[in-house]
Amino acid sequence: MRVVLAQPRGFCAGVERAIEIVERALEKYGPPIYVRHEIVHNRHVVERLRAKGAHFVDEIDEIPAGAVTIFSAHGVASAIEQRAGVRGLPVIDATCPLVSKVHIEGQRYANQGREIVLIGHAGHPEIEGTMGRIDGRVHLISRPEEVARLKVADPDRVAFITQTTLSVDDTRAVIDALKERFPTIVGPDTKDICYATQNRQGAARELARIVDVVLVVGAPNSSNSNRLREIAAESGVASYLIEDAAALDPLWLKDASAVGITAGASAPAELVEELIARLREMTDVELSVLPGVTENVRFRMPSQLSDTRG
Ligand code: SF4
Repeated sequence: MRVVLAQPRGFCAGVERAIEIVERALEKYGPPIYVRHEIVHNRHVVERLRAKGAHFVDEIDEIPAGAVTIFSAHGVASAIEQRAGVRGLPVIDATCPLVSKVHIEGQRYANQGREIVLIGHAGHPEIEGTMGRIDGRVHLISRPEEVARLKVADPDRVAFITQTTLSVDDTRAVIDALKERFPTIVGPDTKDICYATQNRQGAARELARIVDVVLVVGAPNSSNSNRLREIAAESGVASYLIEDAAALDPLWLKDASAVGITAGASAPAELVEELIARLREMTDVELSVLPGVTENVRFRMPSQLSDTRG
């Protein structure tokens, strides 16, 4: 069986930074370290950090007084930051700089007196964080059909921003609908969708062209991983999102001669290696990697940790 790996796949710079922040904080301050929410959407990553002494909590008030507190890569609402401040918790912010950029952009539009349309998925922590960072009216939508139902005070004072991990094509359809209803709307087009999301989506589309089945390694609650599965499926091939090799159903590959593998931005490379090992147990594998974009993005550590690991 031919097994083809998408390029790029797996960890993005924001996820690498967030994990490294927890690891460096554990080294510098010693356990326990408290992390609000899953640091990134991956059970394997969370369990590995938990074993080293990281505690994951949903609420700031669950964190003991004085404990080092880390905000996840998805970002947090201002109210959460303020609550941590009131409690005097020493905070290290692992919010991805590309998510912070969207927060700043949204607030800038709100400062111009515009109502904000946020394109994204309700319930995702990034969306809760972004909505809670903008001091002004924010409308959350995810589909073009929802544009007609928007009620705004002044149709000439509207701006849009987007979640970082959306499908580029789906988002473009929503933006087109917004522009049709609000011709003077301003916004970043699809540029808020981060480089890692766009690169992985392009690679998944390429992969889907040349294989019979696409396996996306990623967590069920990972937005960018779900989009990869959808993009491969839209290209007309069977596509499955699996957390790890154990979740693979051999029946999916029954009639396949070429299997494509990609991985969401929060999925560690070991999970892809374990999946390839499982395929090798099932059959002879001829492995190749698609040519693709090389990523060199790296974000700086927060100031509290810049003196660690050199
Ligand atoms: S997917 Fe993009 S926005 Fe999210 S953590 Fe990675 S680089 Fe940052």
